[in-house]
Amino acid sequence: MQYSELPPRMKKVYSQVRYLDDYHWEIQGERILGIHKKSNIKVVIDVANDREHAEKLAEEKSGDGIRIIAIPDKGVFFIKNGAFILTYRYLKATLVDVNDHIVWSGFKVIPSEEGLVQEDFYEYLGAALINHIKENMLAGQDYVFWQFYKCEKCGKYVDIENLESHLAEHGIKQHERGEERYEVFEINFRDGKVYDKYGEKVEEKSFSDEAKEFIKEVLSGGQYEGGS
Ligand SMILES: [Zn+2]
Repeated sequence: MQYSELPPRMKKVYSQVRYLDDYHWEIQGERILGIHKKSNIKVVIDVANDREHAEKLAEEKSGDGIRIIAIPDKGVFFIKNGAFILTYRYLKATLVDVNDHIVWSGFKVIPSEEGLVQEDFYEYLGAALINHIKENMLAGQDYVFWQFYKCEKCGKYVDIENLESHLAEHGIKQHERGEERYEVFEINFRDGKVYDKYGEKVEEKSFSDEAKEFIKEVLSGGQYEGGS
């Protein structure tokens, strides 16, 4: 099949997303498939005739991945059965938001034929995404995601920047480790709190002293250029 043979509405929808190069794009029938390049998380975009058709599609299963159903109707944006039902024009902003909510959460060095390969882990923060859309919150302005590590010695959460020195105090050499997994928390500038990926508040006492300092600094606007 040639691009020119696609139905006009597929071309219209595809033209909204094709320059978002955080994703690899494929067109399969009435469906546009986006693969988030860093994480391999899938985004499935169905193209529906109208709102009613979109709601019907949302009731059917689509397999794994993040589901979006695009419609030509103006000014529509809602979530049904986990699927985003939205106007063509909102696609780009939503996919940018999705990208902002896929956050690096660790690595593992694994042997391969040629040597060693680093495998990276990512977390999709879907609950936070929905909340941020509802509350109209912007990354960097209203919140920032950051990686924290739960120390196996003292049980406290340590921010990734301070982890090396924290572990050194326990006599652990961080550089000796070939694998680390982090928890991604949201530092929220609006209410000055920290939330886990389920949207639950993380109590201040759960953090190490350095992490408490770090969070205070971030909240005061000292440093928030992104955690990964
Ligand atoms: Zn510790």
